[in-house]
Amino acid sequence: MEGQKDQAFQSLSTNVGTFSVQGKTLLIPEMNRIGCHLLAAVFHGFGVRAEVMETYQGLDVGREFTSGKECFPCQVTTGDILHHMAREQERLGEAFDAKSYIYFMPEAGGPCRFGMYNKFQRIVLDSLPGMQDLKIGTLTSDNAYSVSGMIEEKRATDFRKAAYMSVVVSDILDRLLWRIRPYEREKGGADDLIDKAISTISECFRNHAAGKNLNPILDGLEEVVREGCDLMDPRIPRKPLIGIVGEIYLRTHSQANQDVIRVLETYGAEVVNASIAEWVNYTAYDRLRQARIGLRKSLRLLRPRKIGEYASKVFTFGLSLLYQQSKQEQAYKRVRPLIDLPGDHRVGRLEEILKEKDLFSFDVGTEACLSIAGIMEYIHDGYDGVVNVYPFTCMPSTITSAIAKPIATRFRVPYLDTPCDGTYQPGREAAIRTFMYQAEQHRERALRGGGS
Ligand code: SF4
Repeated sequence: MEGQKDQAFQSLSTNVGTFSVQGKTLLIPEMNRIGCHLLAAVFHGFGVRAEVMETYQGLDVGREFTSGKECFPCQVTTGDILHHMAREQERLGEAFDAKSYIYFMPEAGGPCRFGMYNKFQRIVLDSLPGMQDLKIGTLTSDNAYSVSGMIEEKRATDFRKAAYMSVVVSDILDRLLWRIRPYEREKGGADDLIDKAISTISECFRNHAAGKNLNPILDGLEEVVREGCDLMDPRIPRKPLIGIVGEIYLRTHSQANQDVIRVLETYGAEVVNASIAEWVNYTAYDRLRQARIGLRKSLRLLRPRKIGEYASKVFTFGLSLLYQQSKQEQAYKRVRPLIDLPGDHRVGRLEEILKEKDLFSFDVGTEACLSIAGIMEYIHDGYDGVVNVYPFTCMPSTITSAIAKPIATRFRVPYLDTPCDGTYQPGREAAIRTFMYQAEQHRERALRGGGS
């Protein structure tokens, strides 16, 4: 019995970690549709077989293997991997070999449960015959998602740069979709364009991601944006602008959030969702911030070895953040002459907002840092409403709701919480409709010059 327990614990370290993906099939769970496909294309560009798994089809299985206390994204992703592997077993029969796959499940450190999904899923996989050999490949926000060990060392930096660009390009395509869909001349035109763009831009990443010149990818993106602009009917007046914040998986996984953006659009909204790059930049920023704190402390205590260590970290993380921000800016600059897409606020600016207003602290961490400050920025930028999308019981999002809701009310900006757990909530559509009525009134008030 003791021996079995040891073995089970050992599996959490030997079969969950950063493994080389060369020669394996890397299984990527779908979160935001565009981003996951572009990331898979980047892996292909670097010679890695990567596959985005079908999502939400295995939710029943996911529920069967969870108790209901886990976060909803854990149930969905558990279902995705079990469903996918069952299908692979069926498809390959005797030839099926769990060793030939790596299941990709990143994690985040901090006071949150995301760091435990892959451990939990390891336990589930180990309980199933034939699945003990399926390794879980993980990257962690603790080192700003370093890929060393996963991709061969000499190509790791190039891979990281291309992967970051795929995140930015996917954010832009998402924002293009939300900018044009409410104003399209023909219903379905915007969705068709993005479906097509996922293939064409993926092809660009497959062909160019491993090269140092990412310009051809931006050329492809510019072309899609140009086509998108042509789909818009200029006679349709601008609609109330709604900003979304919340937990990254739920707010970007349209099945899990019951297509909240489309429902908001149905009731007259134009929507902007917080981006994925914002989270990636936040992890880089937080590493830099921690290094600065360490440096200050070592200087105060006069510890020369530590001073050198932290100074070098400040330099490395600072450089990496600068690189990310400049690439993000470069990509947005390419498309802005064609269409007015909102960009991201600098993470440093978001921290300043929290400090100025004494609302929350980056020392606590989690997405609440971004969501609370993000809501403040939406209010400042004149948005007509704010929606917080999150898994039921999500800790950072519940904190966000507790802090930001009273503020939005004080500024007379409509605010809506949309917790999701996969069940159909009969009152949800009515809540969204009421919220949009308030947002419409907010917009009319602002146009009359009444401000918030
Ligand atoms: S952010 Fe929310 S949903 Fe995600 S792991 Fe943390 S508590 Fe769970």
